[in-house]
Amino acid sequence: GATLGVLGGGQLGRMFAEAAHRLGYHVHTYSDEANSPCGQVAEREFVGAYDDIEAIREFARTVDVVTFEFENICSAAAQAIEEIVQVHPSGQVLHISQHRLREKSTLAEAGLPVTPFRPVRTSGELQKAIQELGTPSILKTASGGYDGKGQVTVPNADAAESAWKELGEVEAILEQRIDFKCEVSYIGVRDSSGNFTGCGPIRNEHVNHILDLSVFPDPEMASVAEEARAIAQGVLEKLDVVGVMCVELFVTNDDRLLINEVAPRPHNSGHLTINACASSQFDQQVRAICGLPLGEMTPLKPAAMVNLLGDVWEQGAPNWSAALERPSVSLHLYGKKEPRAGRKMGHLTAIGETSKSVVDTVIQARLSLQSK
Ligand code: ATP
Ligand code: MG
Ligand code: MG
Repeated sequence: GATLGVLGGGQLGRMFAEAAHRLGYHVHTYSDEANSPCGQVAEREFVGAYDDIEAIREFARTVDVVTFEFENICSAAAQAIEEIVQVHPSGQVLHISQHRLREKSTLAEAGLPVTPFRPVRTSGELQKAIQELGTPSILKTASGGYDGKGQVTVPNADAAESAWKELGEVEAILEQRIDFKCEVSYIGVRDSSGNFTGCGPIRNEHVNHILDLSVFPDPEMASVAEEARAIAQGVLEKLDVVGVMCVELFVTNDDRLLINEVAPRPHNSGHLTINACASSQFDQQVRAICGLPLGEMTPLKPAAMVNLLGDVWEQGAPNWSAALERPSVSLHLYGKKEPRAGRKMGHLTAIGETSKSVVDTVIQARLSLQSK
């Protein structure tokens, strides 16, 4: 069979590799750490820096198509790969979605609803942005942020300068702070002929800015489901994505949808598709980049997922068998050695009859990990 290349060695790459293997492909991965979660299951692991163009070229020469699970790869590296082999989604998609200003400007231009924002590159722009958007607002670095890192809340105009200092006075974006009812995501998939499918809106809860729980469907989100899908389709079409893209949205108190950000790859909130759908987000990533027909991605039953951060290990080894006593719960561990606080080590998914019951079950399952 053909060999698929994945840039990045984390859990998203690992679950991609597992899906690729089921579909008969080999996988080579490139990442900056040896024995990575993905490297443990791939046929071959290339280790090097993400800006080592020569090493990345060497990896690209061994595969038939490249995708990624980590988007902070410099444009030069993406370009170098594209000179050797096809990359899905393209380097251009990567270029846009790794920079919040480019991302929001591009989507707004296409008439897609994004949170109100202004660029902040100078002190003057910062003052102007605060005047125009008001406070409270959120200042985010234009690039490099994840899990809420690289963002500061600006409670009032006087706090603006110090907030920007805190970020190192780098290129940034000021966003109006949205008083949202809840957060949802839509996992969109698009193939090279323009066929679109997906899963969502998945309702998401964060703790300390890190995703904690995802559930689909949520009956309260039924009224925005069609619009969420239409927005996601609009985003993937505008960016000409071939592959998987997650669109994170805020649902306002009056049921409007606003795009928060997009990720050009499978997303943590889509992990429940592994157990709940005929084709998971990783199966779909393989299908889309290989030119295979897309699968069915509507969950067969309600599903909920909770993350297992390193914090779960603090009281000693988790009691796996207690969690798995609930037969509808499945455990996914990523093969990471050191369970540091805040580090995503794995997740649990429950599938069942109602949205409420799967949420209860998966939360209880996680709590039971602490039992002796
Ligand atoms: P991720 O890990 O999802 O990539 P990130 O660091 O890129 O996160 P965002 O998704 O932009 O950051 O923000 C993280 C969280 O902070 C959001 O999920 C939301 O809860 C909150 N947040 C971000 N922007 C806003 C906003 N404009 N208004 C209100 N809340 C916000
Ligand atoms: Mg992000
Ligand atoms: Mg986010």
